[in-house]
Amino acid sequence: MYSAAISGALLLITAARLFDGTDRVRPARVLLEGDRIAAVGAAARPPEGAAEIEFAGATILPGLIDCHVHLVDEGLADATVRDREPGALRALRTADHARRTLEAGFTSVRDVGGRDHLEFGVRMAAREGLIRAPRMTLAGKIVSQTTAGARMWRGMYREADGVWDAVRAVREQIAAGADVIKVMATGAVLAPGHERPGAAQLSPEELRAVVEAAHRSGASVAAHAHGIDGIRSAVEAGVDTIEHGTHLHEDRAVAKAMARRGVFLVPTLKALGYIADPPGPGVPEEIVAKARERRADRDTTFRTALDLGVPIAMGTDAATPFNRHGENAEELTLMVSLGMTAEQAIAASTSVAARAIRSADAGSLAPGKFADLAIWDGDALADIAVLRSAPRAVYLGGLRVV
Ligand SMILES: [Zn+2]
Repeated sequence: MYSAAISGALLLITAARLFDGTDRVRPARVLLEGDRIAAVGAAARPPEGAAEIEFAGATILPGLIDCHVHLVDEGLADATVRDREPGALRALRTADHARRTLEAGFTSVRDVGGRDHLEFGVRMAAREGLIRAPRMTLAGKIVSQTTAGARMWRGMYREADGVWDAVRAVREQIAAGADVIKVMATGAVLAPGHERPGAAQLSPEELRAVVEAAHRSGASVAAHAHGIDGIRSAVEAGVDTIEHGTHLHEDRAVAKAMARRGVFLVPTLKALGYIADPPGPGVPEEIVAKARERRADRDTTFRTALDLGVPIAMGTDAATPFNRHGENAEELTLMVSLGMTAEQAIAASTSVAARAIRSADAGSLAPGKFADLAIWDGDALADIAVLRSAPRAVYLGGLRVV
């Protein structure tokens, strides 16, 4: 990768418009040098004879980032049908989901719950160049108290009860290669019917122990939390991102604390929407009911967070029922429908998302950053739905992959 930069392979890309992750830049030009960005806008002036490609009428964006996916699963109404498949087959499916995500313009993902750690092998395969996949920030298994959800999602949870067990669970994920620890601070919608998404899980002491163990090893912490008590405990424990955050609007003081401390909200609007209104059969009625009860809360929370300046990072929860890999950009349409501008939704999926997944080099088009770009025909800054079509081109580390 570095050798390409040394060889000085320069490529100038031009289009009708360019958004660098934070702002619109004119003229819409970006100069790649090997796997990095050399210059953007007026400064992108290559020497005579450098390669040049023009995407007339198109929009250049940084490669998009989805902060909440589960690459191993695939949007089936009932994921348990895969439980008896051999790990090798599941790994190959994971690789296929990763490729579809990349081809949709997503050059980085944060996976917050795999199965049996096979996603770490998939990431190794991508880094060796065996498969094409987005850059992956991985959590390994979800750290959770003993819960019904773990029966449903075999190989995805590491149940831990008590402070030392929780610490050990964190260390196991880090030993496997995790960059982020996913922890369950409340119940889940997609767990058996008697598990209540509003109810807090793990004690404040256990949550603090998880955060301390993760941070000491340099990993961040993503807390799954629907109910306000669990959200509050997670924020007080010092987590870095709140996943879903459905009932956050019930306590504005918690939202203000998130804004002040820079705790990200990853709203996953799409996930709840498809569970509440499944476009096909197979989702148990009790789970549909749990989702329906929360749709209004989800929307109020999104607007409240936007109002109060909580940093919002895009995440789809891809793999929940009918929430398919490669259709991740639907989430941006929903964010705009709830009050974001197209530029805000794109920033939430690029520069803000990069901070949420702690990537210094992804999510913006600036000198020295990864040459990760996604280019769409049309004006994505005026019409966010443009991003739901197939991109015209995708570059990953300077390599054109679409
Ligand atoms: Zn999830």
